[in-house]
Amino acid sequence: MGRYTGPRCKLCRREGVKLFLKGDRCYSDKCAMNRRPFPPGQHGRFRRRLTGYAIRLREKQKLKRIYGLREEQFRRYVEEAQSVKGKTGTALLRILEERLDNVIYRAGFADSRAQARQLVSHGHFMVDGRVVNIPSYRVEPGEVIEVKPQSKDKLRELIKAAAEKRTPPSWLSRDLESLKIQVLSEPAEEDLDKSIDTNLIAEFYSR
Ligand code: SF4
Repeated sequence: MGRYTGPRCKLCRREGVKLFLKGDRCYSDKCAMNRRPFPPGQHGRFRRRLTGYAIRLREKQKLKRIYGLREEQFRRYVEEAQSVKGKTGTALLRILEERLDNVIYRAGFADSRAQARQLVSHGHFMVDGRVVNIPSYRVEPGEVIEVKPQSKDKLRELIKAAAEKRTPPSWLSRDLESLKIQVLSEPAEEDLDKSIDTNLIAEFYSR
């Protein structure tokens, strides 16, 4: 199955939380979670009790949707995280954070992960001097990501506007003049999303 391309606000309404999938709109009164904070569909307003399975499924869907991933891709990340020593949940969040599209979003070079993914796929970014157009590319400490010279004029305003709204986490540094991001280290535990219960996700896949 391909990547989800339908209405993104419906995903937030389904999960019952803001997933911040649409940039500026997510911080405005237009956010669908302010206007219609109940699941989409005819029976969305009815409260249903979730089974144990449904609770785990929803947590998994939430994380998968935040990063805009397909099921197979997400499952591969879970398997990889399970093979890493230590906590599976922490390893999973770290793997997701190190995706190139996420790094560009976190550094404040794009308004949303979807926009960052598009900028990467259109070949606007280089990693250590080489164009990388694969959004899932995994960055490593020490790498430098920058807008390629031919795209700098085109993207400067867009990045400037996005950067005003977001400061990078401690494991990234950015230079808005040269449009560069430096990966300083792996994401530390305190940089990872605390709102996700990764134990539920690990349990979902260990059924
Ligand atoms: Fe979710 Fe953003 Fe839509 Fe609000 S505006 S429902 S946070 S995608």
